[in-house]
Amino acid sequence: MIKLPLNIDYKDKVVVITGAGGLICGAMARAFAQSGASVAALDLNEEAVTKLARELNEEGFVCRGYGANVLDPEALEVVHQRVLKDLGKCDILVNGAGGNNPRATTDNEYQHEAQEGKKSFFDLDPSGVDFVFKLNFQGTLLPTQVFAKDMVEKNCGCILNISSMNAYTPLTKIPAYSAAKAGISNFTQWLATHFAGTNIRCNAIAPGFLVSAQNRSLLFNEDGTPTKRSAKILNGTPMDRYVDASELLGATLFLCDNNSASAITGVVLPIDCGFSAYSGV
Ligand code: NAD
Repeated sequence: MIKLPLNIDYKDKVVVITGAGGLICGAMARAFAQSGASVAALDLNEEAVTKLARELNEEGFVCRGYGANVLDPEALEVVHQRVLKDLGKCDILVNGAGGNNPRATTDNEYQHEAQEGKKSFFDLDPSGVDFVFKLNFQGTLLPTQVFAKDMVEKNCGCILNISSMNAYTPLTKIPAYSAAKAGISNFTQWLATHFAGTNIRCNAIAPGFLVSAQNRSLLFNEDGTPTKRSAKILNGTPMDRYVDASELLGATLFLCDNNSASAITGVVLPIDCGFSAYSGV
């Protein structure tokens, strides 16, 4: 059980969450389930969402895990049919599957620091760049094409996308991920406009820097002191700390609630300890 930041009743709501096998969306799946929703947890990693669903079921909450690739429209449609049968029509879609890839990342921050044998901008693998664009952009568009049909039929619904700090100003080394997340912020506004007449709201959150199992060793030395990149991040963060995944849940529950956020659509909400507000001076 987690401590919920807001008490909003999501009973009778079907919430579909992609990337629910991961850190952020796993926490969101828990928060929605504990708030009474029926949760469909989708992930490429079927084992992770099966485990999450089993744990939530044992605690008395409603969650089903489905193995699904957000880039495969046919597989998504199969999962859609299973969700319809198991839980009912989708009321809320969280597009959480996403991420970067080393093939689309440079080793150096600046060209004048490029070194022989290291990956510079000129060595970026176009297929790696393509992979990151596809995963983040099409990985949001395709599940929306599948699950928002239910919302159109109901003439009501909510979509929550996940953008990032690098959508506002790109981060060094990760040009494709930065541009793809800028695309997500832009697409969030497009969807909000497109679906406004069918009572479907679409918003995004833009999480700041989180510490996860994958990036812990990049952010902290063995003795717990920050690495050079970590010190740069914290110097650029007025609150001088990282964001915890649990701190994304209040905004998630609020933005997806048709009562509390009924007039909010097309916004991208930074949850970043002030990172995007600070000029560095
Ligand atoms: P994570 O790696 O813990 O979770 C991502 C999940 O997506 C994984 O379980 C993975 O299996 C799944 N996934 C990957 N490709 C998939 C595919 N093709 N189909 C279905 N599932 C797929 O990452 P996270 O940190 O929880 O990130 C969740 C979202 O938040 C991502 O969109 C990420 O870009 C974004 N984000 C993360 C941070 C951060 O600091 N962690 C910051 C800003 C934004």
